[in-house]
Amino acid sequence: MRKQLVFATNNSHKLEEIKAMLGNEIEVLSLADINCHTDIPETADTLEGNARQKAQYIYDNFGLDCFADDTGLEVESLGGAPGVYSARYAGGEGHDSQANMQKLLAEMKEKNNRKAQFRTIISLIEKGEEKQFEGIVKGFITKEKKGESGFGYDPIFQPEGYKSTFAELGNDIKNRISHRAQAVKLLCEYLLKKENI
Ligand code: IMP
Repeated sequence: MRKQLVFATNNSHKLEEIKAMLGNEIEVLSLADINCHTDIPETADTLEGNARQKAQYIYDNFGLDCFADDTGLEVESLGGAPGVYSARYAGGEGHDSQANMQKLLAEMKEKNNRKAQFRTIISLIEKGEEKQFEGIVKGFITKEKKGESGFGYDPIFQPEGYKSTFAELGNDIKNRISHRAQAVKLLCEYLLKKENI
């Protein structure tokens, strides 16, 4: 029987991306596939902690092998903020990208050091054992928003080695070099190697 793994996300884009990378070797189940419709808690104060908490929740409540991810934008001159709080940086329920970018640009107004990185952690829990994978893309916070594609902080993040923001580069390039792509690649290499042993 094909190995099954739950991906603890409600984001259909992430789900499709990983299914394409894993091919037929491993069956990736969504939260809907396992009838999980609760809001999984994300209350840790690190990316590592949040990713683990989400994967552990599924393992504990459904008894299924699982992985989960968590991502943050870490700005050097802000001591790593917004980091694990990236989605709700501007307050409220979160995911208001325009408000989050506006707040970040305001905080950075007087800063000369504009270095930043996106960091993704994936936590994989198999038979109760955890393994983590990390993906990082380094870059800079621009002075203004540029570009239309992508989501979140993409219009103000310029990856190292490029003259355009993630939102200007478009999804094809972004998905090749991004933090998430790198973490997903490490996870897939690990899983596929194990399946083939
Ligand atoms: P999540 O852990 O993937 O849900 O990401 C948390 C937050 O980080 C999102 O709400 C976005 O604000 C930000 N974020 C994560 N990945 C990206 C990205 O690839 N581009 C821009 N912002 C991102």
